[in-house]
Amino acid sequence: MNIHEYQAKQLLRQFDVPLLDGKPVFTAEDAGVVAYHHFEARGISAIVVKAQIHAGGRGKGIIYDPETNQPRMLFGKQLRGVVVIRPDEYGNVAHKAYLAARQMLGGRLVTHQTGPEGKIVRRLFIEEGAAIKKEFYCSILLDRSRSQNVIMVSSEGGVEIERVAEEQPEKIIQVHVDPTIGCQQFLLRRLAFGLGLEGAAFRSFLTFVERLYRAYEELDCSLLEINPLVLTNDDRFVALDAKVNFDDNALFRHPEYLDLVDTDEEDPLEREAAKYNLSYIKLDGNVGCMVNGAGLAMATMDLIQLAGGKPANFLDVGGGANVERIANGFRIMMSDPNVRAVLINIFGGIVRCDRVANGIMQALEQVKVTVPVIVRLEGTNAKEALEILRASGLNFLLAESFEDAARQVTAALSRSAA
Ligand code: GDP
Ligand code: MN
Repeated sequence: MNIHEYQAKQLLRQFDVPLLDGKPVFTAEDAGVVAYHHFEARGISAIVVKAQIHAGGRGKGIIYDPETNQPRMLFGKQLRGVVVIRPDEYGNVAHKAYLAARQMLGGRLVTHQTGPEGKIVRRLFIEEGAAIKKEFYCSILLDRSRSQNVIMVSSEGGVEIERVAEEQPEKIIQVHVDPTIGCQQFLLRRLAFGLGLEGAAFRSFLTFVERLYRAYEELDCSLLEINPLVLTNDDRFVALDAKVNFDDNALFRHPEYLDLVDTDEEDPLEREAAKYNLSYIKLDGNVGCMVNGAGLAMATMDLIQLAGGKPANFLDVGGGANVERIANGFRIMMSDPNVRAVLINIFGGIVRCDRVANGIMQALEQVKVTVPVIVRLEGTNAKEALEILRASGLNFLLAESFEDAARQVTAALSRSAA
């Protein structure tokens, strides 16, 4: 589960992680009011207006007008997802914040993480500006290969960490945290020495990461990323950005997180699938796939790709694969207008294939499926299952093997293209 930057910062504040003062707003009028009363009237003359979307790269991202598809402009320049505001000839802070917010809200922000369709900006975060001496990177995440959390820092902040990892891997310093002893001072010091910090900056860094680690554990995060983590001119570390992913398996411990969900950021089909407890992820291809088991689902997606198609979704109907789950799976797949063919790939282990076959038939009585459906059933009672499907008179394409399924998908796609 993802949340917005301003929500992440609200949570981090509870752990005394050093942050700048800020407030979320939803309208341009409020942006002006907050900029005036909360900042300008209190002597803070540099503020930052930040678009709140569930994607990074906002600083470099461009905001388009959703109607005209032209970039929106502000003070003679292309409007970005992060706008630093200082008083100048265009006006005072509050007035400029109002104008910036008016242009940003309702705009379509395209960053390297949103894809070309971008995301509509509906919320803004107004934050005190920082006097930045240097930008660093800091993140905590679970390293599954070591079964330990890893803390990563880098002197190359404010840029994509993937790029640093590729071009200057030596600039990323990491320590693993043994869960039996926790996050000890010597680990934090190793990071601070690695970054070449000294004096007040050194001490500030230790405090920052120590608190951040506590927040990571207690909030049950799977990722907590601060990019950039900035060192201010007076040698204090503060989080300028904050990205939080929660560990979905721990959500039951945090019913309060439900309030943080922004349904505008969710894919409507994924939301629908979640209601039925189906694990569904929408992708941008043309072959719908329905599979039992996540591993087989991944293999099936590879298979579709090899056959020249592109998976339209990941869908794991789970071990049960009963009529209701199959019917809901079909319904969701069929709501995706890109789907040109469906591949059902079920391995009957505990669930018997003949029961799955009956399930598919009953589901197809409830849901209208207009594209070719290729079925591969393998495992317990696979033969009986094929008999049932053959005898049904419904228009299935029965695949005998993985390769055969791939061939049939290719054929179905080229027929639908013709
Ligand atoms: P992202 O691009 O979505 O990751 O958004 P960030 O919150 O990381 O902001 C992008 C960039 O805006 C940062 O790397 C900073 O360089 C800049 N920025 C953000 N806040 C401030 C600020 O208070 N003062 C200044 N000068 N720059 C800022
Ligand atoms: Mn960032």
